[in-house]
Amino acid sequence: MRHDKSPIKDIARGEIDNLFLEAEKRKNTRKDLSDSYVLLANKIATRCKVKIPSTLKYRFCKNCKAYFVFGKNVRIRMCEGKLVVSCLECKHIRRMPVHGDNMNVSL
Ligand SMILES: [Zn+2]
Repeated sequence: MRHDKSPIKDIARGEIDNLFLEAEKRKNTRKDLSDSYVLLANKIATRCKVKIPSTLKYRFCKNCKAYFVFGKNVRIRMCEGKLVVSCLECKHIRRMPVHGDNMNVSL
């Protein structure tokens, strides 16, 4: 049985949204703060067992938790029908198929 209705999980989801909003605001001025907000959001998600929404999970590197600033620390290419997202800070490469639900994800 899933307990998705617990108030702690709702608070955690709200906090994760807020942290990503703050990271977006500061990405050009304080990149170090943006990265630490992403790290904190990941810790909250792990500790409270909530998922980071699909619209946000493509906005940071899964390996080094760096917040992606397009044109600076991330490269996106299409290769054989897949989206290839390369983190230029740790060289981690993530491939994801492009279909259905993924088409609406804004990077
Ligand atoms: Zn990385």
